Amino acid sequence: MLRSKRVAGVSPYVFSAINRRKQELADAGMDVIDLGIGAPDVPTPPHIVRKVTEELQDPRNFQYSPYQGCAEFREAVAAYYRREYQVDLNPETEILTLIGSKEGIGHFFPAVLNPGDTVLVPDPGYPPYETAAQLAGVETIRIPLQKEKQFVLDVADITESDAKTAKALIVNYPANPTGATVGIDFFEKAAAFAEKYDLLLIHDAAYQQVVFDGYRAPSVLEANTDRARLLEFGSLSKSYSMAGWRIAWAAGSAEALASLAIVKSNLDTSQFLPIQKAAALALTGDQSCVKTYNQLLEKRMIVMQEALTRVGIRVNKTRGSLFLWSNVPPGWDSGSFTEALLEQKGVIVTPGKAFGKTGEAFFRVSLTVEEKRLQEAATRIGAFLQEHRE
Ligand SMILES: *Cc1c(COP(=O)(O)O)cnc(C)c1O
Repeated sequence: MLRSKRVAGVSPYVFSAINRRKQELADAGMDVIDLGIGAPDVPTPPHIVRKVTEELQDPRNFQYSPYQGCAEFREAVAAYYRREYQVDLNPETEILTLIGSKEGIGHFFPAVLNPGDTVLVPDPGYPPYETAAQLAGVETIRIPLQKEKQFVLDVADITESDAKTAKALIVNYPANPTGATVGIDFFEKAAAFAEKYDLLLIHDAAYQQVVFDGYRAPSVLEANTDRARLLEFGSLSKSYSMAGWRIAWAAGSAEALASLAIVKSNLDTSQFLPIQKAAALALTGDQSCVKTYNQLLEKRMIVMQEALTRVGIRVNKTRGSLFLWSNVPPGWDSGSFTEALLEQKGVIVTPGKAFGKTGEAFFRVSLTVEEKRLQEAATRIGAFLQEHRE
């Protein structure tokens, strides 16, 4: 078999199987509503698309990018942190361009950790934390997130021996898949914990700007600790509808970024310059597109929360992310519920088990379809529950 032991130990990306079944059912004529998609459904704002088109006219942009990413993009990231968080970063040493934050998270493990090292990851959590660690021979200790604690990781739930063993702690707020959010006090506490146990504190900030209800998401770089122990992964995929563009950054620990840059310079030579330059404009230009999309999402979130509640699915409102997270109805687990719902009603929701063992009793609803379709999905879920009650 042309497959390494490391790859054999990793399951294929969970969403590929669901997508295959979706296609089969759609081909058979079923009207499938896909609430499994984790990426924005609106186009990239026109001023960003215009900018990439302009940059494509300049042949100098067809050359290799500097390894750490072009200065324009890294300076734009620095400007973003100054504007949003009053945090001053050195764009030369404390910011690195990524080809999507998934890429950065993936390469972080072989860059910074050794085979046999241990990291603490949230459960439920974004699947690549686990799989990227496995591919690098790094062990994970999964920290269960509890509904009673609003799915906010509590460092008190980490045992002394796990804390002493680990080299890093990964957190993600607003969270995928739970939609949980935190205040700066969370990062202060996590940073103090990281100091005590000499850990690197890593924040996956993919939804940092996907916020509503007057909520402002903090940055881990605001925490009052030595920046050498902090790393934040930021992304334009969600906030500027640029998922397919593959552009993101890592910011914080200069030492960790220098290591990551060595891996990347040997493997990918950074992102296409016109994309970096258009992303720089996204971060520094007119921000009304972010607000407009957030308003749309907030409205959908409220509509869907109410529609699900009406059909008997209890789900809490959120202040950020693209998701609602709910218990599966009694008598089901996350796999059986989501499979039956797709087969019988053509509604795709993501089984919580895709995000870890703690997710087994839950499912995730993505808000990336129009309001009418969300309502239709809730109606179908209601009918499904009715039929299975009889
Ligand atoms: C979408 C997502 C990412 C990846 O975003 P890219 O920058 O497009 O790679 C990272 N983390 C979480 C939690 C996400 O949901």
